[in-house]
This record gives sequence, structure tokens and C-alpha cells, in this order.
Amino acid sequence: MSVMWDLPDFDGHEAVHFFHDVETGLSAIIALHSTHLGPGAGGTRFWHYENRTTAVTDALRLSRGMSFKNAMAGLPLGGGKAVILADRNRTKSPEMLTAFGRMIDSLAGRYVTAEDVGISTADMVAVSKQTKFVSGLPVSDQSDAGGDPGPFTAMGVYLGVKAAVKHKLGRDSMEDVHVAIQGVGSVGGGLARLLAKDGARLSIADINKDHATNLASELGATVVGLNDVMRLEADVFSPNALGAVLDKVSIAHLNVPIVAGGANNQLATPEDGQRIFDRNILFAPDYVINSGGIISVGLEYLGDSDVNEVNRRVENIPARLTEIWQESASSKLPSAEVADNMAQALIGR
Ligand code: NAD
Repeated sequence: MSVMWDLPDFDGHEAVHFFHDVETGLSAIIALHSTHLGPGAGGTRFWHYENRTTAVTDALRLSRGMSFKNAMAGLPLGGGKAVILADRNRTKSPEMLTAFGRMIDSLAGRYVTAEDVGISTADMVAVSKQTKFVSGLPVSDQSDAGGDPGPFTAMGVYLGVKAAVKHKLGRDSMEDVHVAIQGVGSVGGGLARLLAKDGARLSIADINKDHATNLASELGATVVGLNDVMRLEADVFSPNALGAVLDKVSIAHLNVPIVAGGANNQLATPEDGQRIFDRNILFAPDYVINSGGIISVGLEYLGDSDVNEVNRRVENIPARLTEIWQESASSKLPSAEVADNMAQALIGR
């Protein structure tokens, strides 16, 4: 029987907490990868998993990703992530959120949460009634950062896509640049709107067909099939749904010079970073390009919630990506590996 430490994604986690609340039936995992730079900060995912091992693996990979993301964003925060194991219908009740808030509070500030897939700002407000170790709460003043991190993430991804187009294609404008977007929710939808303003050509796919169709008619985009979006001939493929979409098979079929999107953990395995590199496709490491949201909620939590400061830091994302791509070119290492090396140096491992 293998134990937690033997899981391939354990990777030296400081702690992995398993919680169960008998009254509400809530089961949650809180993984703390590193608190070297500060409290482990990362959102809560509310998701139905086919089995518990998949949920643990997701928590571990997301938590390590947060360590790397926070370090590369220059924040005094470590990395952690919570996963709530939802039932097939994703039933969520106020009592479950209350129980979850108590679970977070029991860690006494070693873990700080925020929104992720399946968790809304209203959910975070409910959690915050039980614990102060919460960020991403609504703001009443527009000059304050915080609240839904999605728009800040979308802005960072947009700036990163533009930087990739400049770096790889030598183009300063997004006019007529063809971007294939997988997932047009909070991040992908925000990205689509920003790109549409610049005159980019958009092909979009989402499992929520109505949402994709409505957005496409609003922006003049084309809806493409879920299986086609990754094979489309385009300038950029932008994954903004769930992770592990880049694997041996999908990479072989990519028909783009650039992959740049906001989804967490896009590479199914570390070898897939090498596969993309070998195909001469420019890859934007996900936790660098999608750090806009954590910059916002991180600064909110740290008490520096001036939106100008958040924007200033989000505007640094292209420079960080360019540094990685330049190092990748000179060292002949995949950009994902270059970013990991930089992040590991920052978190002292
Ligand atoms: P969201 O739930 O608002 O949007 C996700 C969208 O993807 C939904 O519209 C959903 O229908 C669609 N989708 C799911 N599976 C799909 C599939 N197989 N093919 C096509 N579409 C599919 O979530 P979000 O906040 O936009 O997050 C998207 C991704 O970005 C996630 O991987 C998340 O972890 C990551 N991320 C989000 C933030 C943030 O601030 N929201 C920050 C960093 C990273």
C-alpha cells in the first residue's frame, strides 16, 4: 500500500490535512506545500472527483503550483490549496461553508484561502464568518484591490498573450491575430473581451454551449467544437478551463506557434514541457501568466489593497515571461523548467 509521501506529486509538501465534518458530510483536503515565504495562500476548489486519489493529486499539484506562483509574483506568501470533494450534483449548503470556515481557522493562519473553480465571492463571504484567513472578499471602493480575482487574472493573461505574440511573431498589435480560447468563464471570457477590443480573431469553445454562443455573438467570435479548439490552425492556443490538457497526444496535434492561457497545471506531466519545446512552440508557464488574481487577493490579505499597486504588479507579468523565454532560449531548457528552477530558488529548495 502506498502512502501519501510516495505519491509522485507529494514533492516535499510541509503538510496535507484531511478534514471531514460529520454533520454536513463535508470532506476537504488542505495541502500546504511551502510556508517558507509566508502563509500558504491559494484558493479553494469545489469539484466532483471520480475518486479520492484524483482529488488528493489535484490538491497537491495545485498547492505546489501556488508556492511557485506566489514566489514568482514576488509576494511574501507560501503555497497551499484547498479542495472540497463535491458530490455528483455539486450540492453546496451554507452549513458546509460554515464547517469549511472552521477547518481553515483550525490551521491558525498557516493557510489563507480565496476563490477558485466552483467557489464564488458570496461563498467566501460565508467562509469569512468563521475565519479571518480569507481573501478575495468584495470591495465597496473601486480604488481597492480584492474581490473577484478573475478580472485581474484575465488582465495578466491578456498582457502575457500580447507579450508572447510580440516575442514569437514580432507583432506589436493583436489586430487579426487568431487566438483559440478553451473555456470562456471568468478568466477566458475576460481575456476574450480584452482581445476583441484589440481586433483579434477569436475562436472559442466551452462545455457551456449557451455561454459560448452568447459571448461569440457579443464579440463577433466563432464557436468551435470542444475537440477542435486544440487542433485549430491559429496563432495562439489559450487554455482557460481545467488543467492537464497538454499531453503527449494533444501536443502532437497543436497547430499554433504559441500556447498561453490562464488554466492552472496545463502540462499533464513535466515531460510535456519538453514536448512543447521540441515542437518549437512558445509556452507561457501557467503559474506566471495567471498570477494576476493572486497578486490582487494576496495584496488584499497583506493589507496593501491599492488597485494601482495591483495593476503595477500585474503589468510586470510580460517582463517576467520574457525573462523566462530568453533564459529558455539560451539554456535550451523548456520554459516550464526554467520557471520551476527560478521559483525553487526563491522558495529555498
Ligand atoms: P470558471 O469556472 O469561471 O470558467 C471555466 C470555464 O471553462 C467554464 O465556462 C466551463 O464551462 C469551461 N470548461 C470546463 N471544462 C471545459 C472543457 N473541457 N472544454 C471547454 N470548456 C470547459 O473558472 P475560471 O475562474 O475562469 O478559471 C479557469 C481556469 O483558470 C482554472 O484552471 C483556474 O484554476 C484558473 N485560474 C483562475 C484564476 C481566477 O482568478 N479565477 C486564477 C488563476 C488560475
